[in-house]
Amino acid sequence: MLLLQWPRNVLGALLAIVVLAGCEKVADSEYKATQYVFGTLVEFTIRGVDAKVAEDAVAAIGHDFQHMHKDWHAWKPGEMSDLNRAFAAGEGRDVSPFLLPLIKQAKVLYERSDGLFNPAIGGLIGMWGFHADELPVGTKPDLDAVRALAAKAPAMDDVVIDGSHVSSRNRAVELDFGGFAKGVALDRAVARLRALGVKDAIVNAGGDLNTIGSHGDRPWKVGIRHPKNWGVVASVDLAGDEVMYTSGNYERYREDDGIRRGHIINPKTGMPVDHIVSSSVIGREGWLADAAATALSVAGPDGWYAIAKRMGVKYALLVDDQGTIYMDPAMAARVVFPDGAHPRVVISGPL
Ligand code: AMP
Ligand code: MG
Repeated sequence: MLLLQWPRNVLGALLAIVVLAGCEKVADSEYKATQYVFGTLVEFTIRGVDAKVAEDAVAAIGHDFQHMHKDWHAWKPGEMSDLNRAFAAGEGRDVSPFLLPLIKQAKVLYERSDGLFNPAIGGLIGMWGFHADELPVGTKPDLDAVRALAAKAPAMDDVVIDGSHVSSRNRAVELDFGGFAKGVALDRAVARLRALGVKDAIVNAGGDLNTIGSHGDRPWKVGIRHPKNWGVVASVDLAGDEVMYTSGNYERYREDDGIRRGHIINPKTGMPVDHIVSSSVIGREGWLADAAATALSVAGPDGWYAIAKRMGVKYALLVDDQGTIYMDPAMAARVVFPDGAHPRVVISGPL
């Protein structure tokens, strides 16, 4: 079974609406249900439990998602945007136990990615118009203003955590957790499923997914997205409890004066990265794999290997503009290309 990709534009109108479609029995003891979080349709496939257990689990997760959508939103009213306003005013805030772990994780990810994953650059993301759940908004930013903000070097290590009090040494810091919030959300979703006794499930948010167990007597088989055509580059089997996240700057971009710029920003320059690339990471935890996929997109075909190594990634695959595939040998041993596909492949050293 190759998992369907959900084009984001189709979902645009449904933004911020959290709907519970209920659980539908699709096969003997297999249930499917959907929820929305962060503008993405999340599809649950749950096997081997009673319908009631599956339904209750999905309802509880829907509640969690609603909370996350509101309070982890960087620019809509909520706890995060309030904290960002405090930073800009040179103030701090006491932060809820709901948000605090995310800020701690963001600091870890910043360190581990050598600063390429930097959720403190919300100001730059906003300038480029990517403070929108779907298509970019606004006109082309003033490049001098972009350079000036990048020169202030907002970074996660400017953020100071003292107990539950959070402040920033740099007023230019604006948190935006768009690069790993989906991973955190799916980690919480599978934790809930596990706590309710679910042993086999897949939670799929448009190709970013967490698994539990297997699909009965076979592993979960999933597709790796293609940067350009929403098709599938390759498929891979995920073994018990693995996750896979893909990040690409082809999916959300703006075009100004004929120049196409995607939503992945190089924190050092403030500019969208100038290579077209998608990167997929298989790991064990969504928050880490989601952030790593974004960091590898920033690093691109030349820099990804060093960052993957630093972040402890074991399985990575990048696809560039020309369809060339870059991967490590462990990933190469797992992927299966569609019949008749013979892409150019560049294999790195082991991770
Ligand atoms: P993803 O699709 O997981 O790669 O996340 C992309 C989102 O991450 C963007 O829409 C921004 O909100 C945010 N983002 C962009 N560049 C960076 C970066 N260098 N570090 C952290 N987050 C970023
Ligand atoms: Mg990501």
